[in-house]
Amino acid sequence: MEQTLSIIKPDAVKKGVIGKIIDRFESNGLRIAAMKKISLSLQDAQQFYAIHRERPFFNDLVQFMISGPVVVMVLEGEGAVAKNRALMGATNPKEAEKGTIRADFADSIDANAVHGSDSLENARIEIDFFFAKREIC
Ligand code: ATP
Ligand code: MG
Repeated sequence: MEQTLSIIKPDAVKKGVIGKIIDRFESNGLRIAAMKKISLSLQDAQQFYAIHRERPFFNDLVQFMISGPVVVMVLEGEGAVAKNRALMGATNPKEAEKGTIRADFADSIDANAVHGSDSLENARIEIDFFFAKREIC
């Protein structure tokens, strides 16, 4: 059983599609092991996306992530990291396959509805960033 971190980003929360996105996970064998709705601080967002800090889009990305509340979740299931990435679709929704979350709910490469851990190693780091042990069950 793998665990991965998912974030429903501010654009999707504002659109009112939290439930529809969660349904994609639950309908495809991913169990919600932890979940909360939070507003990221500037420092949270900068730390979470620190890997991208040299990229030209870093400031826009951080500002976007603090532009409204997000829903953070731990998803659990067989091959959860890859399964979540497949359900999400490509980073740029214009390139995302039909039926993926980003194709159906995202507007642009900046406002792209969801985040998902890109490896098992990063999943562990990202889960620990947001959740205490007792919150995951
Ligand atoms: P995420 O990490 O949010 O799940 P991802 O793993 O598909 O997305 P990354 O390469 O990790 O993509 O980029 C992180 C985020 O930075 C993307 O979700 C996107 O919003 C933004 N981003 C990535 N590349 C670009 C780009 N070329 N121009 C603008 N924004 C970008
Ligand atoms: Mg990424």
